[in-house]
Amino acid sequence: MEVQCALILMPSILLKGGTIVTMDSRRQIIRSGDVFLEDGLISNVGKVGEFKPQSRPEYEIDARGKLILPGLIDTHVHLAQALIRGCADDSSLIDWLQKFVWPLQGNFDAEDGRASAELCILEMLKSGTTTFLESLLHTRYGFDGIAESLQKSGMRGVLSKTVMEMPSYGTEESIMHTGMIEDAETCLREVETYHKRWDGKADGRVRVWYGARSLGACTPELYSRIAQGAKRLGTGITMHLGEVREDVKYANKEFGKMPAEFMDQVGVMGPRVVFAHGVWLTESEWKILAAKGGTVAHCPSSNTKLASGIAPVPEMIQHGVNVGLGCDGGPSNNCYDMIREMKLASLIQKVRLSDPTVMSAEAILELATINGATALGMAGEIGSIEAGKKADIILVRTDAPHLTPPLNPISHLVYAGEGSDVDTVIIDGKVIMEGRKVKTLDEDKIIEEANRRAEKLLLRAGIKVNSKWETG
Ligand SMILES: [Zn+2]
Repeated sequence: MEVQCALILMPSILLKGGTIVTMDSRRQIIRSGDVFLEDGLISNVGKVGEFKPQSRPEYEIDARGKLILPGLIDTHVHLAQALIRGCADDSSLIDWLQKFVWPLQGNFDAEDGRASAELCILEMLKSGTTTFLESLLHTRYGFDGIAESLQKSGMRGVLSKTVMEMPSYGTEESIMHTGMIEDAETCLREVETYHKRWDGKADGRVRVWYGARSLGACTPELYSRIAQGAKRLGTGITMHLGEVREDVKYANKEFGKMPAEFMDQVGVMGPRVVFAHGVWLTESEWKILAAKGGTVAHCPSSNTKLASGIAPVPEMIQHGVNVGLGCDGGPSNNCYDMIREMKLASLIQKVRLSDPTVMSAEAILELATINGATALGMAGEIGSIEAGKKADIILVRTDAPHLTPPLNPISHLVYAGEGSDVDTVIIDGKVIMEGRKVKTLDEDKIIEEANRRAEKLLLRAGIKVNSKWETG
């Protein structure tokens, strides 16, 4: 494919004269700095003129007037929900799932899955996300098609295949749409198959994890088998946990434990385990997470829009829990823009604690970068701009009215920025987007296909989406 050749013809790139937000252990910011990228890795970082590249760069990007940041890492994404964006507004989680999201997703076919994934990946790339953790891919979405789209896009991603055996959520029994129900043996077999086929492909950009859905979906025995499988394959696990009060009620009633205590008991706890939401986890559970190294993927837009609650993020961090940031999905957020997500993540903690000093812009940027890398077990490879790490880097403009005057770059990014301020995206040393033009994907075709497929999907599912106002 012509596009891929164009990407390969740039083994070395010099980013010249930008403000580098390194996110290294000292959190250095370098005004007027250069970054040299070679063979997919960052080879030098410093002030302009401070280092001389070993070889002449094949390609130069003028970064003057721009921020140079590590690519953003979204730790909780549903690729298959981009196609149903805005289909379930203004309802609570169980209704939201049962009346809208599951009937729609239960009518997906593999081409819908691919179209939705491409739409989602396009949106993430255009707003500066370079790595994501997809949490639940049901078989009907077409795992191979989605993995192919990820490979083609140039993005880095973890794809988690759903593992489940009960069509319940928390204490609500058998509420899942029949099109979404899968059995344990098939799920476990498929994780192994897809792991063998895809994990480590595309120069390591594609990873495959277990997606253990949520409480009410698996028996304790199945959770244990997932934990054993992950250990054997050397891979990770992600699931929803403590998102709503129903999770706590369920864990107490069924197992006489708090949700994270139960997950620890069945072996689903460790450094490559990501629990989405964690709104209702308690201090004793934070201690388990901190001791065992599990991550909470904080999803503030989803939690506030569904009125699930506000996760006590500063307290979790204080207890040593690694917290990442996630956009969740099209019907709960309703966008996949990590820069917009960062602002809300900060503001809701300030108002919850009546304390404007908590969750500063700097602390929030850690969630979206280095903490995300830690969540995925990739802190040695991505999440900061340091020599030896993979060249996953974004350039953000600073000349827009809402980013002027350019005083504190972190404050502007978190409190005033938006995804569309991202100008350039580099992943694995390849320029994937430049001047907001994505080079690996056909933007018009993806949007056209998504519109066409969404219309047909709504008809098949028998769901109508309209404004509450009369629409002629
Ligand atoms: Zn989710």
